[in-house]
This record gives sequence, structure tokens and C-alpha cells, in this order.
Amino acid sequence: MAALVLVVNCGSSSIKFALVNPEESEFVMEGLAERLGETEANLKWQINGTKESITLPPKADHKAALSHILPKVEKVAVAEGKLKAIGHRVVHGGESFTQACILEEDAIAAIRNTAALAPLHNPANLLGIEAAMKLFPSLPHVAVFDTAFHQTLPDYAFRYALPENLYTELGVRRYGFHGTSHRYVVEEAARLAGKSLENSGWLTAHLGNGCSTAAILNGESVDTSMGFTPLEGLVMGTRSGDVDPNLHSYLHRELGWDLEKIDHVLNKESGLLGLSGGLSNDMRSLVKAREEGHEGARLAIDVFCYRLAKSLAAMACALPRLDGIIFTGGIGENSVLIREKVAEHLVLFGVSIDEKHNQECVGGKAGTIHRLGSPEVWVVPTNEERQIALETLACAQKNK
Ligand code: ADP
Repeated sequence: MAALVLVVNCGSSSIKFALVNPEESEFVMEGLAERLGETEANLKWQINGTKESITLPPKADHKAALSHILPKVEKVAVAEGKLKAIGHRVVHGGESFTQACILEEDAIAAIRNTAALAPLHNPANLLGIEAAMKLFPSLPHVAVFDTAFHQTLPDYAFRYALPENLYTELGVRRYGFHGTSHRYVVEEAARLAGKSLENSGWLTAHLGNGCSTAAILNGESVDTSMGFTPLEGLVMGTRSGDVDPNLHSYLHRELGWDLEKIDHVLNKESGLLGLSGGLSNDMRSLVKAREEGHEGARLAIDVFCYRLAKSLAAMACALPRLDGIIFTGGIGENSVLIREKVAEHLVLFGVSIDEKHNQECVGGKAGTIHRLGSPEVWVVPTNEERQIALETLACAQKNK
């Protein structure tokens, strides 16, 4: 009987869930509850491609949504295998968590204590954890952290050049995010390449709405582009990535903007959206607009690719060897143009892309896209839910 894991990912007003058989990349069931806390809360899900949806009671919260989701999941799980555990995505584990852990009192308290570092995310993650634990008290619940994979960074990669007490007393350091995805794709690439992960060096680029790069040596993250928060590093859909830190005081002095306004602009109105003059944060739309001659779309794509290549080149400092560069996330898995343009900036590294293979690796197809003689360049579709399920099962079995 298949061992199944329910993966739950709670945002501030949404719950994404998937019923995963870790042996397979397709999900048994997946769904999304949206607009929680609003009058028009709803729930949609699909089982084997059949889609269904319901309206939730007005102002349904996380607990109410989960009380609709969990019986449906249980019914499917009973028919398809055995539900063994529930894996919860938790955004920030601070320095307390270097790997997935069973959710007991101590772990929940530590996640709560980390809330100051992720005020939008960790409290929402906790709402889901507490509700699911009440509804499924007899199953093991496991937390899988976005930050945990990057806890292997050396101090010279994770410390900022700031007064020491800001680190020791407030935890101001680089944490990195998207750890689940970086880990999943590097393990997949090593497997597909027939290489030993324990003896290899990779650069990964996770390019979704949020974007980050990482350097991974012998299976461990040794540097990554996101920092104290997911705002640092690359140009993203609506996030600026790196800007001069003095920009804050300048905007305050010149425009009278308060911190909330500046935060909002840098996180929600910048990145591809800002550079394209407000046209779109969505790469697909920008690629199309660029083809039609839209100047803002051209600029947004050029800045995105240049900054991404610069980040990969910088990440190379963390590696004594390079087995391959991996593209993943919606943009990395699908955009022939972005991969080609990034490679053009890495010509000094000898990177060169094969046009035909680049065009073939789209829509979920994994493979190599480099020319003979170039460092290897891989496209590897990410599957964060599957990685969470794998870590959840391993953790639950270890703690049996
Ligand atoms: P999230 O971070 O929300 O999981 P995804 O990994 O799904 O996001 O990535 C979303 C991004 O991928 C969007 O910018 C979208 O336009 C882009 N994308 C998806 N398909 C393509 C494509 N064919 N060409 C270019 N960009 C694409």
C-alpha cells in the first residue's frame, strides 16, 4: 500500500495542499483555499485531473478551511494508500532548525519565537499547524523549513558587515530561502547526471515569482543570494533584489515615505513590474511584449538576466569545482530566452547553450542544454511538495 503524505503550505490568506506519494512526481490530489478571512473564501481541488470547487462560509479562517480540506483528503487517502504523516512548509526556521523536525511543543515554541524574522509567514504557518494537529492528532506532523538547507553556509558567507550585537542579539544575518527547491533540484541533477552528490559542486537558479541562486558543494548549501529576508539578491517578479541600503533614507528625505511605504514599494512594486513601467511581473507576458517591441519589457528582461548571471558568477567563488548550473522554477523551467541570455553573460566561464536542446527543455522536461565543451547546464523541474513529503516521511520514520 502506498505511503502518502499530506503537504500543507499556509500563507496569510491561503492554504495550498497536496496529497503526495513520494514515489511519484504526480500528486494524488492537490488544491488551494483562497481569500481566507474574506467574505468570498473558496476552496478548489483536483483529483486525477478532475477539478472541483466550493464556496467556503464567509470569513472562513485557516481552521475552518482545513476542516473542509482534511476529510476530503482522508477519503482519497483511504482509497489510494495510507496517510502516514502531514508535512508543513514553514518559511523561517532561524538558526534553530538545520533540518526537518517533528512538531512537538518545543519545536512549535521555537517557530513562534522566530516569528519576528518572518512576521507575514511564520504566524500563518503556525495557524495551519495548530489546526491540522487538532484535526489529525494521531498522525506525525513534521515541519520542513525554507531556511534549513542553507544553515550550512560558512560564517563569512552568512554574516553582514554590521556591528556584532545586531547578529548576536537580533539574529541579523543572511538566512537564505527556497532551500527545499535548491535541495530537490541538486539531488535530481546529480541523479540524472549519474554523479555522486557527496562529491560535486553545483550552481542553482530558482526562478519563480521569487528568485534565488545557490552554490551547493557536496550536497550542502555554501552560499545563496537571498539574505535576512527574501528581498535580497536577484531581480524578482515584484521585488527589487539588491539596492543601495542608503536608498531608504533618500526616499524618506525626498518623498517623505515612511518605512511601511518603502517596504511596500521594494517588495510589491519593483522587480520586473517596476522595470517594465508597470506592465507586468509575469515573465511570460514580458517575453511576449519584448517581441512586440515594448521597451520596458526589453529593459526588465535585460536587467533580470544580467543580474542573475552576475549572481551566478559571484556564487562560483564558493565552489572549488563546477559540475553544472541548474535552472528551475517557472522561468528557469520554461524560458528559452532567459536561459540563453544568462549564458551569454557567462561566456568567460565557457558557458555555451545548444539552441535545439534549450528549446526542447520546457513544460516540465528535464535535461541538459549546453554545447559540447561548455560547463554542464541543466534544466530540472522543481517539486517542492515532493521534497517536503520525502523529508516528512524520513523524519517521521526516524522518530517512530
Ligand atoms: P511561484 O514562485 O509562484 O511558484 P512559478 O515557479 O510558477 O512561481 O513561476 C512563475 C513565473 O514563471 C512567472 O513569471 C511566469 O511568467 C514564468 N513562466 C512560466 N512559463 C513561462 C514561459 N513559458 N516563459 C517564460 N516565463 C514563464
